[in-house]
Amino acid sequence: MKLAVYGKGGIGKSTTSCNISIALRKRGKKVLQIGCDPKHDSTFTLTGFLIPTIIDTLSSKDYHYEDIWPEDVIYGGYGGVDCVEAGGPPAGAGCGGYVVGETVKLLKELNAFFEYDVILFDVLGDVVCGGFAAPLNYADYCIIVTDNGFDALFAANRIAASVREKARTHPLRLAGLIGNRTSKRDLIDKYVEACPMPVLEVLPLIEEIRISRVKGKTLFEMSNKNNMTSAHMDGSKGDNSTVGVSETPSEDYICNFYLNIADQLLTEPEGVIPRELADKELFTLLSDF
Ligand code: ADP
Ligand code: MG
Repeated sequence: MKLAVYGKGGIGKSTTSCNISIALRKRGKKVLQIGCDPKHDSTFTLTGFLIPTIIDTLSSKDYHYEDIWPEDVIYGGYGGVDCVEAGGPPAGAGCGGYVVGETVKLLKELNAFFEYDVILFDVLGDVVCGGFAAPLNYADYCIIVTDNGFDALFAANRIAASVREKARTHPLRLAGLIGNRTSKRDLIDKYVEACPMPVLEVLPLIEEIRISRVKGKTLFEMSNKNNMTSAHMDGSKGDNSTVGVSETPSEDYICNFYLNIADQLLTEPEGVIPRELADKELFTLLSDF
């Protein structure tokens, strides 16, 4: 199964991607996460550092694919999730779609592309040209991360339009929206009523998620650590089998949001081919005037 996670910049795509990747891994799937944002921090919380990008590695070897080994570009992340950063084209030049294409080509040459149960592409914000939509060529499902605000829903609507366009030639579906960093969902609900699509989950603004970014750890890793610490404080033995099952730490309930999303995806839902709203319709729908 190939997933492409889209949404406005800074909305929480990478945070959501990393935690969904681990959730899928916990369900026994072999998972590869590919960061496709020039920011190349998609896999930071999984690996704890900024891994070299495919484009850096390719250019250091003069684009000789035969000189590149899987370990040059695929890095092991927390919980057994494998990580790749595609990187971006030089700023102001080149095309992000080309970079994604090269990444997939290299992974196929390395026999890695078909080796995973799940490949998750952590993509970009607004879809403003074909290059931004390139990962949709490889995806079975698109997932859109949004908050309850106009800008993120506007971006979501454009992504929905790209899915509709790509679905004409690819077996692509929109799995649904993930609401993030919002306690309110009235505009999200208005939008999905007008443009029907599933809402997979809605996560509020959670301090532990913000902290997880600063610490460079996923929620699952923080939960595991705290479970072990509290188990030690109880005088009992902390070991990896306690991952996510202790009653104590608050991270556990957050992990459940991501496990719930993973479980929905693993049922291979029908999803939708959306029919986006015209810009004017969207303005009217989401405004008070
Ligand atoms: P994107 O990949 O869409 O650019 P990130 O995943 O990097 O966004 O998230 C941007 C920031 O928002 C990060 O510092 C992250 O920790 C924070 N964040 C994401 N989701 C939440 C949430 N539900 N609650 C609090 N902070 C969040
Ligand atoms: Mg990101």
